[in-house]
Amino acid sequence: MSTDIDCIVVGAGAVGLAIARALAQSGREVMVVEAAEGIGTGTSARNSEVIHAGIYYPAGSLKARLCVEGRHLLYAYCAEHGVKHKRLGKLIVATSEDEIPTLTDILKKAHVNGVTDMELLSATQAQALEPALFCTAALFSPSTGIIDSHGLMLAYQGDAENAGAQCVFHTPLLSGSVRSSGGFDLQFGGAEAMSLSCNVLINASGLHAPTLARKIKGIPESSIPTEYLCKGSYFSLQGRAPFTHLIYPTPHHAGLGVHLTLDLGGQAKFGPDVQWIDHVDYTVDPARCEGFYEAVRTYWPGMKDGTLSPSYSGIRPKISGPHEPAADFMIAGPAKHGIPGLVNLFGIESPGLTSSLAIAKETLACLSMTSS
Ligand SMILES: Cc1cc2nc3c(=O)[nH]c(=O)nc-3n(C[C@H](O)[C@H](O)[C@H](O)COP(=O)(O)OP(=O)(O)OC[C@H]3O[C@@H](n4cnc5c(N)ncnc54)[C@H](O)[C@@H]3O)c2cc1C
Repeated sequence: MSTDIDCIVVGAGAVGLAIARALAQSGREVMVVEAAEGIGTGTSARNSEVIHAGIYYPAGSLKARLCVEGRHLLYAYCAEHGVKHKRLGKLIVATSEDEIPTLTDILKKAHVNGVTDMELLSATQAQALEPALFCTAALFSPSTGIIDSHGLMLAYQGDAENAGAQCVFHTPLLSGSVRSSGGFDLQFGGAEAMSLSCNVLINASGLHAPTLARKIKGIPESSIPTEYLCKGSYFSLQGRAPFTHLIYPTPHHAGLGVHLTLDLGGQAKFGPDVQWIDHVDYTVDPARCEGFYEAVRTYWPGMKDGTLSPSYSGIRPKISGPHEPAADFMIAGPAKHGIPGLVNLFGIESPGLTSSLAIAKETLACLSMTSS
């Protein structure tokens, strides 16, 4: 049976656009459908904009592999396409003697993941780099950087469109079904509701990707994880940034700790914290900044009262709950659910931005076995 479009990518965030670009450049006909008014209004616009090195993730995980590969691809892509970025470097700091073994563990993990340029610094060496810093030791990661995420998405969109893809906005995918003869029938809402069929369906819809997968009849429930939302709020620092590198505390369970990142203009922000929530709400509660002063002063004792103001928040699309071990990215292709032409992207939290080009390669590899 013929279809209206060859490939439909649901979601115009960094990941959906990277996949659309790769599909279009491989010669496929591609339509990106996006519920919002434009590209990059979801998690891709609400993150730390850090190019991660690939340090912390469990050996052999998709996060470890795709972050390291994605970071190499991303730096090359930014250089080639004029996407603004800076390789600032990052310090992971221990603030007590007890935390030093954690740094050593992180260094070993980083090596296993293929991040071989890190260096363990004494407190004196770290303070020579950052005089305002308090620490008992630090790990220096020279290949961590920052990026203009919207500029990156514009470049992906440009590449995809140059290769023939089209992006349509205000077009939420509402429901669908898997055809018994192959392909998908999909129903879209928006000002003009419509139905379209396709051979390849990529669910890159971010926060609610599991809920959306459940709305497509024929996808086995056993292949769809439970979704959880974990909010992270940021507070910006008034006045001059005290540091020139990104500063991270030693990490804990659901996030990387209240860290300091810099934007491309040199403005400092702190965050994201960790708050498990039930529904999407991006409001930043000013009261949460009390916890920030306490957390930041462990590594920047000179921080003055009243210097933080609420900035923005993002929500991590988690597929593991608050008391479970952190889940890996789940790039669920035909090997997972048995449906040719379908890839569901679940749990694409950090380092999804860094990994976006590698996730796109992985997604195409999942498909290449089953569709033409
Ligand atoms: C607080 C925080 C900090 C982070 N920091 C970093 C970082 O520093 N570095 C890093 O590498 N990664 C970071 N990440 C992760 C990174 O931001 C994400 O992995 C990445 O942006 C995910 O992109 P995406 O395209 O999958 O999702 P999104 O950007 O959320 O895009 C999904 C799109 O799908 C659309 N959509 C949803 N449902 C439908 C539907 N039914 N029909 C049509 N469209 C739909 C949405 O409108 C949205 O535009 C962070 C994440 C968070 C939450």
